[in-house]
Amino acid sequence: MKSIAVVGAGPAGVTAAHLLALAGHHVEVFESHEHAGGRTRTVHFGEGHWLDTGAGWLTDFYPTAMSILRDNALDDHLTPLRLRGGGDLLLDGNRYPSPNSIGRILGSRLITWPEKIRFFAWMAMLVMRQRPNLRIDRRFDAQPAVQNLSSMGRGPLERVVRPSFEGPFFARLEQMNATLVRSWLRSLSIGSFFQVDRGMDRPWRDLAAELTVHYGATVTAAGGAGAARAWVEVGGERRSFDAVVLAAPAPVCATLLAADAPQQLAEVPYVPHVRVYAARHSTVPVPRSAIHVFPNEIVATVERGQGGDPAWGRVPTGWEWTLLCAPSASSDQLITLDDEELLDTMFSEASALSGERLEWRDHEIVHVVRWSHAVPVVDPNYYARIDALPDLGPIIFAGDWTDQPCVEGAVRSGVRAARRIDDSIPSRPEVDRR
Ligand SMILES: Cc1cc2nc3c(=O)[nH]c(=O)nc-3n(C[C@H](O)[C@H](O)[C@H](O)COP(=O)(O)OP(=O)(O)OC[C@H]3O[C@@H](n4cnc5c(N)ncnc54)[C@H](O)[C@@H]3O)c2cc1C
Repeated sequence: MKSIAVVGAGPAGVTAAHLLALAGHHVEVFESHEHAGGRTRTVHFGEGHWLDTGAGWLTDFYPTAMSILRDNALDDHLTPLRLRGGGDLLLDGNRYPSPNSIGRILGSRLITWPEKIRFFAWMAMLVMRQRPNLRIDRRFDAQPAVQNLSSMGRGPLERVVRPSFEGPFFARLEQMNATLVRSWLRSLSIGSFFQVDRGMDRPWRDLAAELTVHYGATVTAAGGAGAARAWVEVGGERRSFDAVVLAAPAPVCATLLAADAPQQLAEVPYVPHVRVYAARHSTVPVPRSAIHVFPNEIVATVERGQGGDPAWGRVPTGWEWTLLCAPSASSDQLITLDDEELLDTMFSEASALSGERLEWRDHEIVHVVRWSHAVPVVDPNYYARIDALPDLGPIIFAGDWTDQPCVEGAVRSGVRAARRIDDSIPSRPEVDRR
C-alpha cells in the first residue's frame, strides 16, 4: 500500500484518487474549493434550478469517462442533450440556421453546392483516415489546423467549420493544431450528447464522497522531483507521500513546483472564459433561441429560453433565462472588470445583437462565471512538448492539458496517473493509445 496525495478534485484528480483508493492505497485529495468537480462546476439556485457553469455536456465519444461512470452506476444520471441542432448563426450580420448537422449543411445558404460536395468529400476522407473517440493522432501535431483544413475549400472552412469550432474551444482556429481539430471534427459529426441530471459535477462529487478529500485546502508548493518520496505544502505544513499526483491546470503545477518546474509547463497556453446568466419569474412565454455571433467582439452567443425547456442545467417552469458567453478575445478584458461593468457591457451588446432589450437589473438571479484557465489551447507541436515532459519520479501530472482539453481527456489522464503508480490498475479505452 502506498501513500498518495492528489492535488485537485476535478475529473482528473478524482478519477486518479478513485482508482488508487479502489486498489487499496492510502489516498488524500487536496482541493482549494469547498466542492469537487473543478471546471465541471454546477451552481444551484433553488429547487430544480441549476446552471452548469463549466462543462455542459458529455458524449458517447468519451469512452473512458463513460466507462468510469458505468462502473460506478453513475451513467443512469445521463439525459440526452436536446440543445444541439438548434440555434442560428449570425454571420457578417446575416442569420442562418447553425450548420451543425449534415441535414442543416445540405440545406444551408452558407456555402454553394460545389462547396458542399467538396466539403463532404473532405469529411469522408477524414472519417476514413481519422480514428474515432478523440484519439490523438501525432501525424498532424506540427501542422496548424487552418493549413490542414484549407483543402476543404475556403467557404466551408470560413463559414461552417470556423464559426462552429471557435465557440466551443474559446480560441481562434489559427491557434489550434490539426490533431485537435481533426479528432473533434471526426467525432462531433456523429456524436450523441448528454447532460448529467442535477449537474455536470455530480459524478465527481459522488466519487469524491467515497474518498478522503480535504476541501478548502490549497496546496502552495510541491516537490521531491527525482527523489524517493514527494511532498506537498498545505496549511503551512509539509506532508510527505510515496507519490504526488498534480491534477491541476499546467500554470498551477508550474507555480507549485517553482524551480523544479519543467519548461514545457510554462508553454501550455490557456484562454480565459467569461459568461453571465440571468433568470426571473415570467408568465410570458420566451421561445428557446440561441444566436451564435460571428465574427464576434464582446458576445459570442446569446441564448434565451423558458423554464421546462432545454437549458444549460435546469430551469423551473414559470421562469425565463438568458445566458451570454464571451469569446476568448474579449474574455481577456472582461474578466478584469467588476460584475456591474461586465454585466452592463455584455447585456448592452446582447441587446444590440438580438434586437431585444435585455437588462440584467430586471432579473432575480444574476450569476457571473469567470474561468481564468478555461481550456488549454492545443497549438502546433503541443503533443511533442507534452511528450517531452521529463519524468519527475514520484511527482506525476494529470489534467486535461496532458491529453484532450475536455472531460474525457481529464479522465484519461487520471487513469494514466493511477497506472503510473500501480500498474495492476486496469487500463481503459483510449488510455494507452496515444
Ligand atoms: C466554460 C467551460 C465549458 C466547458 N465545456 C465542456 C464540455 O461541454 N464538455 C467537456 O468535456 N469539457 C468541457 N470543458 C472542459 C472541462 O471542464 C475540463 O476539461 C475538465 O474539467 C478538466 O478537468 P481537470 O480535472 O483536468 O481540471 P479541473 O476541472 O480544472 O480541476 C482542477 C482542480 O484542481 C483544483 N486546484 C487547482 N489548484 C489547486 C491547488 N493549488 N491546491 C488544491 N487544489 C487546486 C481546482 O480547484 C480544481 O477543482 C469546459 C470548460 C469550461 C471552462
